[in-house]
Amino acid sequence: MISRIDLRGDALPEGGALRDLLPRAEFDVEAALEKVRPICEDVRHRGTAALIEYARRFDGVEIERVRVPAEALKRALDELDPAVRAALEESIRRARLVHREQRRTDHTTKVVPGGTVTERWVPVERVGLYVPGGRSVYPSSVVMNVVPAQEAGVESLAVTSPPQADFGGLPHPTILATCALLGVDEVYAAGGAQAIAMFAYGTEECLPANLVTGPGNIYVAAAKRLLKGRIGIDSEAGPTEIAVLADDTADPVHLAADLISQAEHDPMAAAVLVTDSVELADRTEKELAPQIAATKHVEDRIVPALSGRQSAIVLVDGLDEGLRVVDAYGAEHLEIQTADAAAVAARVRNAGAVFVGPYAPVSLGDYCAGSNHVLPTGGCACHSSGLSVQSFLRGIHVVDYTRDALAEVAHHVVTLAEAEDLPAHGAAIKARFAELKDWADWK
Ligand code: NAD
Repeated sequence: MISRIDLRGDALPEGGALRDLLPRAEFDVEAALEKVRPICEDVRHRGTAALIEYARRFDGVEIERVRVPAEALKRALDELDPAVRAALEESIRRARLVHREQRRTDHTTKVVPGGTVTERWVPVERVGLYVPGGRSVYPSSVVMNVVPAQEAGVESLAVTSPPQADFGGLPHPTILATCALLGVDEVYAAGGAQAIAMFAYGTEECLPANLVTGPGNIYVAAAKRLLKGRIGIDSEAGPTEIAVLADDTADPVHLAADLISQAEHDPMAAAVLVTDSVELADRTEKELAPQIAATKHVEDRIVPALSGRQSAIVLVDGLDEGLRVVDAYGAEHLEIQTADAAAVAARVRNAGAVFVGPYAPVSLGDYCAGSNHVLPTGGCACHSSGLSVQSFLRGIHVVDYTRDALAEVAHHVVTLAEAEDLPAHGAAIKARFAELKDWADWK
C-alpha cells in the first residue's frame, strides 16, 4: 500500500538532490491560476450576483444572499450538541491561552540619549478568514483563524465558508455555531476562489479586507497567489502532510494510526515515516490494513493518499540521517517518536509544528493542544511559519530623535547621502542646522 524509499548507505544525497528524492504531492497552483482568474474578475465586477452564480455552479446550491443572517448564527449555537460545544470551548480556551501569551509587545531601543526607535505592533484593520468546507467541515479551522486574530486585536473580522446544499445554502451549522461561540457575527456563505475575491475586492454585502488567511483547496490557494499584493495572505496552504521520525522505541500501532489520521483529510494528503528500523517499518506497514479496515473515508481518501507518490516509508541509517531527511522535507506536521524525543526535536530546523513523543499526536494539535493548526505545507516550512498571533500584526518602527541626537549623527547621514549621490537627502539634514556657517565643523 505504501511505497518505500531506501536512503541507507550511499543513497542519501546532499541538499537539493535529497529534496528531489522525497515524496511530495503534485499541487500545481500555477495551472489553477488560469481557472481562477476569470472567477476573480467576475466577482470584482458583478459582486454578489457572481457569488450566487458560483454557489450554483460549484456548490450545487441556490442562494439569494451571501451574508449569513444573525438568526442563523444564533440558531446554530442553540442547536449545537452540548458535547461538541464543550470540546470547542476547551479548544478555544487553550488556543487563547497560547496565542495571548505569544503576542509580541512593543519594544523601545534607546540608540543614543534623546534618540529612540520603537517597534510598535499594530493589528491589521480588517481580516477575512477562509474556513474550508468542501470535502470535510472544519470548525476547528474557525478557532485556529479567529483566536489569533482576536488576540492580536483585529477589530474587523469576517469569516467565509462554502454554502452547503444540505443546510439550505448556509455554511455547515457547526461552523456557524463556532463563529457565534467566538463572537464573530460577520459570516458569509462563499467558498473557493470566489470567496477570496470577495474579500479582495469587496461586494455589495462585504467590505474588502486587508489580509486573508486560512487553508483551502487548490482554487483557494491559486486565488490567494493571484490576489496577493492587493490583499496580504498567510500562506498558500496545500494538502496536509505528516512526517514521523521514529526509531525502534516507537509503537507501530501509534504510527499507523497517525499516518492514517492525516491521510483521511484528502486523497492528496501525504504521510511519510522516516526510520532507521526496518522492523518498525515492517510492523507499521502491517498495522495499516486492519486500522484502515476499521475506519471511514477509505476508498475516497485514505487509500489514494497512502498509496500515492506523496506518501512513503523512508529508510535511513540512523537518527542523524533521519534528521537530515525530515529537515529536507520540511513537513507541515512532524512527529518525533524516538528515545529522548525532546532532545531530537530540539535539533529539528524545518517543520510547521513539531510533536514530541508518544503522547503528542498530530490530532491533539489539530484540535486541542493550544497550538495553531494552519501550517505551511509543500516544503514551505523551510522559509515560513504557521498562523500565529503575529500573522495579524504589523511592526511599525517609530523614530524619535531630539535636535542634539540628530546633531550627533548628522555628518554621517550627509556623508552617506553624498556617497549615494542623493544631495537632497543631505540638504534635509543641513536645513535643520541653518545657523551653522561651516558644515565641515560637524564632521
Ligand atoms: P474548500 O473549502 O477549500 O474548497 C471548496 C470550494 O472549492 C467550493 O466551495 C467550490 O467553490 C470550489 N471548487 C470546487 N470545485 C471547483 C472547480 N472545479 N473549479 C473552481 N472552484 C471549485 O474545501 P476542500 O475542497 O475540502 O479543501 C480543503 C483543503 O484544506 C484540503 O486540502 C485540506 O487538507 C486543507 N486543510 C488544510 C489545513 C491546514 O492547516 N493546512 C486545515 C484544514 C484543511
